Amino acid sequence: MSTYVFGHTTPDSDSIIGAISLSYLKNQLGEDTVPTRQGEVSPETAFILDRFGFQAPELKTHYAGENVYLIDFMESSQSPEDINEATILGIVDHHKLGDLKTATPLEMWVRPVGCSNTIVKQMYDYHGVEIPKEIAGMMMCAILSDTVIFKSPTCTKEDTKACKELATIAGVEDYKALAMEMFTVKSNVLNDTKRALVLRDFKDFMMGGNKLGVGQLEVVDLAVFDDMKEELFEEMAKLKAEGERHSVLLLLTDIMLEGSQLLVLSDEPTQIESAFGVKLADNQVWLPKVMSRKKQIIPFLEKQF
Ligand code: MG
Ligand code: MG
Ligand code: MG
Repeated sequence: MSTYVFGHTTPDSDSIIGAISLSYLKNQLGEDTVPTRQGEVSPETAFILDRFGFQAPELKTHYAGENVYLIDFMESSQSPEDINEATILGIVDHHKLGDLKTATPLEMWVRPVGCSNTIVKQMYDYHGVEIPKEIAGMMMCAILSDTVIFKSPTCTKEDTKACKELATIAGVEDYKALAMEMFTVKSNVLNDTKRALVLRDFKDFMMGGNKLGVGQLEVVDLAVFDDMKEELFEEMAKLKAEGERHSVLLLLTDIMLEGSQLLVLSDEPTQIESAFGVKLADNQVWLPKVMSRKKQIIPFLEKQF
C-alpha cells in the first residue's frame, strides 16, 4: 500500500503544486508519500513547474486500497470515482465543507483562506520544516494564482503574509511581475480547443438534486473571447447534455477590470437570474467585482437551489 497526495479533478495550480508541497512535507515528517494528479496540467501550471525546474506529478485516477491525502478539495464530485475504497488520511483545503465520508479518524487542515498552499505553508511552520527554495517559489505562484494577485475577495492577510515569506525563501524579488507573466500565459486561450477551454477549470456541484457544472477562465483582457463565444456556448451545450447537467455556467473573469462575464446554459435560467439578482441577455450577464467562484458564485447557487 502506498500513500498518495493529490488535488481535485481538472487540476489547477493549487492542486498540482499542493500535491508536491504537501507530499514533500509529509516525507520530511517520516511518511512515504507520492504526489499525483487526476488530470492534465494547465498551461499556467506548466509555466510554474518549468520556471522552478519540476516535473508534473504522475497521472493517477484510481485509488482503491490506497492511503490518500486530499488537497484543495473535499467533494465527491471532484474525487476519483473509487474514493470510497481509499483510506483518507487527511484533507488540506480552503473550500466549503464537502460530502466525503471516512471510516477512520483523519487529519484536517481546513481554513477560510485564499489558497491551499497558504495552509501548507502554515503546516511547514507548525512542524518547523524548512521549505526548499524551488518548492517555495511554486507555492508562492499557487497563492498568486488562487488569489488573483491578492485581488480576489477570498484573499486574506494570511495569504499575503505566506506569499511574501515564500517569495523571500525563493529569492524572487518582483513576485507581482512573475504573477503577471503567469496570468499572461493563462490568458493565451487561442491554442486550446473550445472544449479544453471550458474544461480548463471546471467543477461539478450537486445542488438540491441538480448537477451544476461551473467553469472559470481568468484572463488579463476579455477581448480574447470576443470571436469565440458562440463556440464556447456550443461546447457548454454538449457538456450539459453529456453529463445530464441542469446547468453549465462559464465565468470569464477579467483580472484587470475585476469582474466576470457569466455565460449560462440552464434548464431553468430564471433560477440563475434570481440567484444573482440579474437579467440574462443572450444567455449572459456582466457581474462587476465578481472574481471568485468559491465565494461569489457557488454560495448564491447553493442558496437558490
Ligand atoms: Mg483548486
Ligand atoms: Mg485552491
Ligand atoms: Mg481558482
